[in-house]
Amino acid sequence: MDAIAAGYTIDLHTHSLRSDGALSPADVVKRAAARGVTIQALSDHDSLAGVAEASAAGRDLGVRIIPATELNTESEWGDAHVLGYFIDPADGSLEDRLRWLRENRGRRIELMVEKLNALGYPVELARVLEIAQGGALGRPHLAQALFEKGHVRSYDAAFDTLLAKDSPAYVERVGLTPTEAVTLIREHGGVPSLAHPGTVVGLDELLPKLVAVGLAGIEAYYGAHSPEMTARCLASARALGLVPTGGSDFHGRGEHGTDLGGVFVPPETIERLESRRGRA
Ligand SMILES: [Zn+2]
Ligand SMILES: [Zn+2]
Repeated sequence: MDAIAAGYTIDLHTHSLRSDGALSPADVVKRAAARGVTIQALSDHDSLAGVAEASAAGRDLGVRIIPATELNTESEWGDAHVLGYFIDPADGSLEDRLRWLRENRGRRIELMVEKLNALGYPVELARVLEIAQGGALGRPHLAQALFEKGHVRSYDAAFDTLLAKDSPAYVERVGLTPTEAVTLIREHGGVPSLAHPGTVVGLDELLPKLVAVGLAGIEAYYGAHSPEMTARCLASARALGLVPTGGSDFHGRGEHGTDLGGVFVPPETIERLESRRGRA
């Protein structure tokens, strides 16, 4: 049996081959449509390159595509990722900034390949680039290369043993701070939401700082969240006037994220996010 609608209708966090996902933008939309999604944000890391293809597929399949990106940040706040919704894929000055971020990603992955080789886990940069197929390079590509070479038992084990922060082959990224990421999205007319807040260190301290520069949403609904974490995010949203957002973080690789439409997102979310365009 195929094409069974098994998911929720809104998914505001998805990745394609244009960053570190496994499927082409069109195939991600096809799979989302088959699972019953009717509104999908394609939120590739540091890239809007997949939006046109996703939108074209969405028009055929009855899925509204919201152009988005996810910006990783580097700071003492842990893994603070910022989703930016309703940004313009044709915005050249934004693309310049995103290209800078992607180039930093590339240099970082090159350094990690060198470290892995020195540690006795030989992988070839050329193979890592092949796996990425031109998408924004990330650790998932390295994980797949390590798995293929038999250096780890599974894709996820690569993260646990070699690629996680403080692991032997880990290299810090150069990048934006969370405040800079929110500001960048706002400067380009987007609506920023803090992704998977469970990975942030010092969430309660960070949130007001981000709200001050224009944060509009918080990803309260997320597969890896406990009910307590979701409740905590919803309480923060109420206290700080943020829109609760949510999504699957689908990558199509390993166990990273849930399947498309796998996370409940309230139907009023889109309208609420749209009302935050052009203002903090
Ligand atoms: Zn993320
Ligand atoms: Zn993501």
